[in-house]
Amino acid sequence: MVDGGRLWNRLSELAKIGKHEEGGVARLSFTTEERAAKDLVASYMQEAGLAVREDAAGNLFGRREGTEPEAPAILIGSHVDSVLNGGDFDGPLGVLGGIEVLQTMDEEGVASERPVEVVAFTDEEGARFSLGMIGSRALTGTLSQEDLLHEDRDGVSIAGAMRNAGLEPARVGEAVRPADTLAAYLELHIEQGKVLEGEDLPVGVVTGIAGPVWLRLSFAGEAGHAGTTPMGTRHDALAAAAEVVSVIEEEASVTGSTVGTVGQIGAGPGGINIIPGRAGISLDLRDIDEAVRDQVEGRIRERAAEACERRGIDLEFEELQRLPPAPCSEEIRAAITAASEGEGIRSYPLPSGAGHDGMHVAELCPMGMIFVRSRDGISHNPKEWSSREDCEAGCKVLYLTVLDLAKQG
Ligand SMILES: [Zn+2]
Repeated sequence: MVDGGRLWNRLSELAKIGKHEEGGVARLSFTTEERAAKDLVASYMQEAGLAVREDAAGNLFGRREGTEPEAPAILIGSHVDSVLNGGDFDGPLGVLGGIEVLQTMDEEGVASERPVEVVAFTDEEGARFSLGMIGSRALTGTLSQEDLLHEDRDGVSIAGAMRNAGLEPARVGEAVRPADTLAAYLELHIEQGKVLEGEDLPVGVVTGIAGPVWLRLSFAGEAGHAGTTPMGTRHDALAAAAEVVSVIEEEASVTGSTVGTVGQIGAGPGGINIIPGRAGISLDLRDIDEAVRDQVEGRIRERAAEACERRGIDLEFEELQRLPPAPCSEEIRAAITAASEGEGIRSYPLPSGAGHDGMHVAELCPMGMIFVRSRDGISHNPKEWSSREDCEAGCKVLYLTVLDLAKQG
């Protein structure tokens, strides 16, 4: 079976790359830190006896052939880039867990019909360019040349950063993976929430990945003197925005599954004695059921329009992103459930509120995810932690799932 000690040592080694004194890691895409992380991962792939290659988008693959080399492969993946001041487990667990599965198959002399591959995707987090999942978008052919114009804080575009890393942006289309070469995609990831901890379970079976809608709401009213304008005659853009923030919280709470967040707010002109004539807020709205999410969005838009009408405020919506939720495949969920039960773990289904590369890979083949318990639900933080035992349990479930899906001979 899988070697939990080896997995843990590799997690610890990878965590040293991009580690800051305060304890957090920073491995942004196309930087020397990310390169060093991929080089270390490539060396582990070689130790596992895998054929190693990197595609035109910088995705790093290790492949183990099956007895039927032409059969579509089982792909195990995650990422090694991180947010700024991130933790040791978000991403690395899935990549190193995948390598551990393949190395164990090799050591146990397991012959599978289907080839099995592990991939470290380029830039899942979007921490550098505010465009995430670059590698998995490239795999599905949805990464456009326009996407490559996104810039980081220093004005370096994705295309420019790729060139600096020795990649040719014009050739990114070569990273497209034909759907008929993949049978399934699997990802082992930390939960980044408290559900499994509450259930006292090391591992959970993901039902689907919630799809986010990102909107920007702009409110235009009338600036005025804070001392001389009576309350009844004002067109206060920030007061309207505040009412809409409450509407968002209320409407998102109704369904029990939707989450709605206003993470950005701004107002102008910005004087202590001036009524705000303009205001803006962001909205991040998610659900694993697209129809439910869209109904909530519809009610928010309707009530926001009513509030602004009543207050004499012009309201504009701008759509920044709209991704459909990605349900996990029933067949893969069943395989993960059986694998969990084989390990004596009560199988527990739960959705993923966070986005993952699987949302994109699901366009190519059936997709499934295994969650590992996160301590206190903390993630994107140096305190992010999953125990050695839980990481090992998750990797064992992944191993049994892969043997099942890759048709052990
Ligand atoms: Zn992640």
